[in-house]
Amino acid sequence: MANRGIKQRGQQQVEDVNGCSRPADLAVLQSLVTEMLLALGERPARNGLLKTPERVAKALVFMTQGYHRDIDHLLNGALFPIEYDEMVIVKDIDFFSMCEHHLLPFYGRVHVGYLPNKKVVGLSKIPRIVDVFARRLQVQERLTVQIAETLRSKLNAHGVGVVIEARHLCMMMRGVEKQNTIAVSSSMLGAFRSQPQTRQEFLKLIRRGSVADSD
Ligand SMILES: [Zn+2]
Repeated sequence: MANRGIKQRGQQQVEDVNGCSRPADLAVLQSLVTEMLLALGERPARNGLLKTPERVAKALVFMTQGYHRDIDHLLNGALFPIEYDEMVIVKDIDFFSMCEHHLLPFYGRVHVGYLPNKKVVGLSKIPRIVDVFARRLQVQERLTVQIAETLRSKLNAHGVGVVIEARHLCMMMRGVEKQNTIAVSSSMLGAFRSQPQTRQEFLKLIRRGSVADSD
């Protein structure tokens, strides 16, 4: 049975939604990785490490590409008018992010639900919205709130619920070394916050077959 840290976040100001307009600097990253290898006591000139600074720099840029993605651009042409007013759920969205405290990965699944208000978004766009925010330096709680607030504001939805279950390598590989801890965070907005039955329906629908049950 996994340990759980449950964190609830409600309506709050979301910081840093807009990312960064300055492009990543591969050359600087590369030389910093060389410095880091030296500082760790390694020999960057040995065979196995020759291309490591270049690889690490490229990997870091890839894993933080969300800073340079624009939500409005992503949603352009993907919002559709509709009369449907039942809950829409997309669950088990895999994500990979990096904690901003240790620059180590955290990863898991995101579950998203919303109550449409005359407008829906193409289903394939929801995992891409998750990626825009996951592929940045993050803390799990902020990632949760940014996804929820973005959906609420772009869709003008009656309510939005987001639940994230994640494992953090900074907890698994160092410090407390809790291998089986899953951190769970949630953000409930609008009807998902004010109406217990809406929230319960969402939680019931995402629970079936979730990663939590397979532990
Ligand atoms: Zn961390």
